Amino acid sequence: MIALAYSAPSATEPLVPTTIERRDVGAKDVLIEIAYAGVCHSDIHAARGEWGPIAYPQVFGHEIVGVVTEIGAEVTQHKVGDRVGVGCMVNSCRECVNCLAGMENYCLKGNTGTYTSVDRDGTITQGGYSSHIVVVEDFVLRVPEAIDYAAAAPLLCAGITTYSPLRHWNAGPGKKVAVVGMGGLGHMAVKMAHAMGAEVTVLSQSLSKQDDGLRFGAEHYYATSDANTFDTLANTFDLIINTVSAAIDINAYLGLLALDGTLVSVGAPAQPLPVEVFTLFGNRRSFAGSGIGSIRETQEMLDFCAENGIAPEIELISADYINEAWERVVRSDVRYRFVIDATTLAVA
Ligand code: NAP
Ligand code: ZN
Ligand code: ZN
Repeated sequence: MIALAYSAPSATEPLVPTTIERRDVGAKDVLIEIAYAGVCHSDIHAARGEWGPIAYPQVFGHEIVGVVTEIGAEVTQHKVGDRVGVGCMVNSCRECVNCLAGMENYCLKGNTGTYTSVDRDGTITQGGYSSHIVVVEDFVLRVPEAIDYAAAAPLLCAGITTYSPLRHWNAGPGKKVAVVGMGGLGHMAVKMAHAMGAEVTVLSQSLSKQDDGLRFGAEHYYATSDANTFDTLANTFDLIINTVSAAIDINAYLGLLALDGTLVSVGAPAQPLPVEVFTLFGNRRSFAGSGIGSIRETQEMLDFCAENGIAPEIELISADYINEAWERVVRSDVRYRFVIDATTLAVA
């Protein structure tokens, strides 16, 4: 079928309205009419070639919610009319040790990304800034009715990418958790960690979003532009989640970890983050990374958000605002996630 979309013609040109072909609905596939698509900083990194070259034209977007409008003959988990979501991956090899352990996000052959990946039919996957998408049912999530429809979209990437390391490193009562950068991922990390019972501190470039951070559940809020912050908070945290999209002085942040603390980078800057091993020796610190989350964990996260009344703070935009939205994300001028209303694609 032909779907409406916004795509990037190259690494340097603005996104433009276009149409793309979606594959026929296979036996195990679900056709989704997209209602909302979140705007992740990863879309911008990828589009601009910051993570390496990609093929163009390319449609981005991996925070997708919509309604099932058609199912294949062998589909058992979803039915027409269901409210569903799709995140950062749409398939995996299903046979490697990580896939067999239910950790498709860490597929050893590389999971099939929602965009810029080679799909099983040899085409390049095209993402969620679009009116429709066809996805194999195992990679489609149930979106609880209790979560606001539009606000549900960013949970599919920003939500799971912060939920997963918080759970893995046991954020909870008695744990001091710091969140570096309060953008799309960062504000979700604050809400999630608070709901898990941790004592949350935000480390932001300035104090301009302090009121919001405290409203989201943080107990403390510091500006990293103030050098005193790093003295005041030395040896404090059990867990630090770094969500910054740019390269930062990671050793300054490692110094904030208490004994056996871990700093997890989910931010994915183009440049490396060089680590000073002597900073790790002090307090037996760990530096780790984390990539999105498994399908099972993503469903658990959606249910957790529904039960705890957690939803992203969004700014709903029409599709023709996407280029300005990207510029605002790059300037850290986002409160706290742009979400495209997919009905506006039709009038583009
Ligand atoms: P975002 O909304 O732009 O948030 C990033 C935040 O980082 C900004 O709001 C800002 O927070 C801070 N920041 C930006 N530039 C900075 C700089 N030069 N120095 C210090 N702080 C800076 O981005 P996002 O969508 O949350 O994504 C964040 C990063 O995570 C991106 O690199 C993205 O690609 C990556 N990501 C990774 C995964 C994964 O699986 N690991 C999944 C999704 C996204 P303050 O204004 O509060 O300082
Ligand atoms: Zn993302
Ligand atoms: Zn695999």
